[in-house]
Amino acid sequence: MKEYKLFINGRWVDGGAVIEVRNKYTQDVFAILPSARHEDVDEAISAAQKAAPILAGMPAHQRSVILSQTAHLLKARKEEFAQTIATEAGKALKFARIEVDRAISTFTIASEEAKRISGETIPLDAVPAGEGYFGFWLRRPVGVVGAISPFNFPLNLVAHKVAPAIAAGNTVVLKPASSTPVTAVILCEILSEAGLPSGGINLVVGSGSTVGEWLVTDPRVSKVTFTGSPVVGERITQIAGIKKITLELGNNSPVIVAADADLEQVVKRCAIGAYYNSGQVCISVQNIFSHREIHEPFLEKFVHASRDMVVGDPLDERVDVGPMIDLKEVDRIDAWVHEAVDDGAQVLTGGRRDKCVYWPTVLDNVKPEMKIVAQEAFAPIASVISYDDFEEALQLANNTEYGLQAGIFTRDIQRVLKAIRQLNFGGVIINDTPAFRADHMPYGGNRRSGIGREGVRFAIEDMTNIQMVAIRQNQ
Ligand code: NAP
Repeated sequence: MKEYKLFINGRWVDGGAVIEVRNKYTQDVFAILPSARHEDVDEAISAAQKAAPILAGMPAHQRSVILSQTAHLLKARKEEFAQTIATEAGKALKFARIEVDRAISTFTIASEEAKRISGETIPLDAVPAGEGYFGFWLRRPVGVVGAISPFNFPLNLVAHKVAPAIAAGNTVVLKPASSTPVTAVILCEILSEAGLPSGGINLVVGSGSTVGEWLVTDPRVSKVTFTGSPVVGERITQIAGIKKITLELGNNSPVIVAADADLEQVVKRCAIGAYYNSGQVCISVQNIFSHREIHEPFLEKFVHASRDMVVGDPLDERVDVGPMIDLKEVDRIDAWVHEAVDDGAQVLTGGRRDKCVYWPTVLDNVKPEMKIVAQEAFAPIASVISYDDFEEALQLANNTEYGLQAGIFTRDIQRVLKAIRQLNFGGVIINDTPAFRADHMPYGGNRRSGIGREGVRFAIEDMTNIQMVAIRQNQ
């Protein structure tokens, strides 16, 4: 059993009640750490506030070196990180390793972006009132960033908050998900080793309704960056007060498959996109709209690929699909599938569970109003729905309260252009699934999928304030 602590002001400290972290496949407790009390959160915010001028005054090249050194140290401990992610999040080891590689990229990109933060001159004399003035604007760090992250990418989604915050010269108080805090603890160790000054990163662990809300509501926190469910995102908007907020929330990701698509490719990409991390990915393939002409052959191939997925212990190299995060989530998705079946849906494969594992599941004959279609499934489940013309498919895809990413498979450029124009999503992915993400691209949702964008450069924009300077010249 491993024992960890909170990280406040550059020191490992005790807190309150013990949090047990379980191996999500065996359910054995493999680590413990203290949960933060109100006074610990207070101390973490004070430390971040005290360190804020130090980070803000640090030359860009020095912040850049801390971030590149973090990437270097992550690389050196890649396997330890991958094993920790597989254990605490239940992510299959092969995908846990990809997450570590992505986090290395995120820190590397941030080390480059740290040197590119700039503003521009403004021709103030464009209006009579500006005659005789020289103007420019620049970006200043906001100060203390409160970062709250979910369980499904315990390393890279923390990296997407911490790396741009440091690149911009901010300090951070981080609250990771209670079920997957260990990866974040090790990351803090590395950041400190990489030379981040005390107070630059502070880690508080504990329940969202206490520790999370103390952080969100504290007026010393200038910016909240949150990734998680829409319900909690909405709550944050209600309690945060006047501060900057970025919300990266859910999706029920649509994929449109046109009759001219390369079915082998579509099946391969949809199977990975629907089932990796047991479908617990905000851009996981959920609703596949297939043209009536290819509906039957697509279904047949997709069911085959779904059955081929190796299900089991995420620490086993051969496994594709590990457990879901907890039994409550398995119960929820099982109930949704049963409800859909009672209303006429057909399970073509899957629909099976064993403890926290849920088998890759394909549903046919679903209706748009069923929970399994209309809400975010966040489970290894895909529904396949046929359509007759492309316009109808775009409407079906847009018929959601979410708007994170959508995917389209077609060889027809006119359809591609129409889709780009009509789809109300933060990202439109052509000839791949919505599950595609590169860590430097702008990433975030419209509608109930959130506010703001991540992807290092874009997160930096949201983590800085624009400062305008006007200089009056002597006449
Ligand atoms: P969640 O239940 O909303 O939790 C996310 C984080 O918020 C956790 O650290 C949680 O703490 C904390 N929290 C809970 N209640 C809070 C409150 N009242 N105030 C402040 N913080 C609070 O989400 P999850 O189940 O971990 O993650 C799944 C969701 O995240 C899905 O909807 C998924 O789509 C979304 N997601 C979105 C993206 C994206 O980039 N758009 C990426 C990944 C995931 P506890 O762990 O202690 O509850």
